[in-house]
Amino acid sequence: MAELPSSIRKVIESFERLPGVGPKSAARLAFYLLATPKSFVEEFAQTILTMKATIKKCRQCFGVAEAEVCDICSDPKRNQRQICIVERALDVIAFERAGGFGGVYHVLGGVINPLDHVGPEDLTIEALLNRVEKLRQLEGVIEVVIATNPTMEGEATALYIKDQLNRRFGELVGKVIKITRIGSGLPMGADVEYADQATLSRALEGRREL
Ligand SMILES: [Zn+2]
Repeated sequence: MAELPSSIRKVIESFERLPGVGPKSAARLAFYLLATPKSFVEEFAQTILTMKATIKKCRQCFGVAEAEVCDICSDPKRNQRQICIVERALDVIAFERAGGFGGVYHVLGGVINPLDHVGPEDLTIEALLNRVEKLRQLEGVIEVVIATNPTMEGEATALYIKDQLNRRFGELVGKVIKITRIGSGLPMGADVEYADQATLSRALEGRREL
């Protein structure tokens, strides 16, 4: 079989590095771009570059933001004392689409996974504890809703966070600081990012004290 020109091959290889794109889809996308007007390709490339240049991590929740603090954290209508902890920024989008959550988020940046060499220090857990510490100095109950995926790593991370909150805040946990875990609806091994809206809403409503 004749080899493809290297410039096409490189585009195919780039697409193959994207999540969920196999060799066949990668080739199809490359040939689509080859056949499409140059103006579209230029605009497409530019939108990706602009996104990379303008999006940063929110200083408070580590979700995506165009300013120092994201739109959710700076929304006065959101309950700052209810913090939903998720693995990835994409999970925030999933919960927002499902609707019904009036609190704010905290993006961990992954889960504890010794096989992948991801330890607690690689996640934003310390920042979460500091966030709770600040809230604690003000009046009112704080709820930490742990919404990591119901996988082995997600559960282990949830327990680790609970443990850290207990260590730092002792007897306040269970009284001023409520720790809950999203509940039934999400099957074991499921992924928050891919769960449908109704399932996510149910999981949030069915959260139980951890
Ligand atoms: Zn934020």
